Amino acid sequence: MSTPAPDPAPGPAAAPGTPPEVRADVGADVRPVEVLTVATVVDVTPSVRRIALTGTPAAVAAAGPTVSLLVPRPGDPAPQWPAVARDGRIVWPPGAHGVSLRSYTARRQDPERGEVEIDFVLHGDGPAATWAAAATPGARLGVAGASPLGDRPAAHVLLAGDETALPAIGRILAAAPPGTRGLALLEVADAAEEQPLPAPSGVEVRWLHRGATAPGESTLLADAVAALDPPSTDDLFAWVAAESAAVRTIRADLRGRWRLGRPQHHAIGYWRRGRAMAG
Ligand SMILES: Cc1cc2nc3c(=O)[nH]c(=O)nc-3n(C[C@H](O)[C@H](O)[C@H](O)COP(=O)(O)OP(=O)(O)OC[C@H]3O[C@@H](n4cnc5c(N)ncnc54)[C@H](O)[C@@H]3O)c2cc1C
Repeated sequence: MSTPAPDPAPGPAAAPGTPPEVRADVGADVRPVEVLTVATVVDVTPSVRRIALTGTPAAVAAAGPTVSLLVPRPGDPAPQWPAVARDGRIVWPPGAHGVSLRSYTARRQDPERGEVEIDFVLHGDGPAATWAAAATPGARLGVAGASPLGDRPAAHVLLAGDETALPAIGRILAAAPPGTRGLALLEVADAAEEQPLPAPSGVEVRWLHRGATAPGESTLLADAVAALDPPSTDDLFAWVAAESAAVRTIRADLRGRWRLGRPQHHAIGYWRRGRAMAG
């Protein structure tokens, strides 16, 4: 995360006869990005929009669990997609292109059916939230790469996150062996933002409501972790993702009071209050 991406004007359209997702200046050492197409748009809560996208089985398989999305300007008929180098670097087209790079989580991937679902928090600002708010069937989204969630199976888990982390925590809980024990702490605005989160019976799912406090300004998650006694087992993994300042506080608690080594936790800021993501 760093300085806001500039908001450039769309660049020139691809050469006639060239599919818009294949740049004419792509060389032999780079490949075009995969492009997915919006199939359905559903508001699952007042602030979370679930967008189902379709693509080839390979494109869908490559779109997660954590996915680097290439977000065009809403309504851009010919997005100037970058390309991807062999080493995974993104090769941007020269000049203004109007495409922003943002990290999201595929809550569900079904390569056989060629479907992937992504939940977007409609936080009101930024290229990705704006794109999601305007998305209609037929709109397109690029995929520049993917990476793991950073979780690790353990007998005891602590999961903590806000709305942006719900898709990841949902996947982690769904994949957890039935005997897993632990706690999932989910900070959302209110009861209307809660989502069904199937979990092993030994994992308590606890919702925290920040009410009128703005996202990123509450200390609910950090306070909830601070109130916990570390479990008396080494077979323990903590996974945390939310606004960066909250994550910093929780990470310090986990490394200090909980004495968790690096292999025992993954604590990542998913967004930063007042700052745009890089790209
Ligand atoms: C690995 C990873 C996985 C992620 N998965 C998801 C996911 O599945 N769903 C999801 O919705 N988000 C997810 N996020 C968070 C998402 O990438 C950020 O919220 C991102 O900033 C959104 O981009 P944007 O273009 O909408 O806003 P930006 O241009 O990045 O930011 C514009 C402004 O909006 C503010 N802002 C950004 N996000 C929020 C927010 N959630 N609430 C309030 N204000 C905000 C910023 O502080 C800034 O002031 C993930 C992040 C990471 C790193």
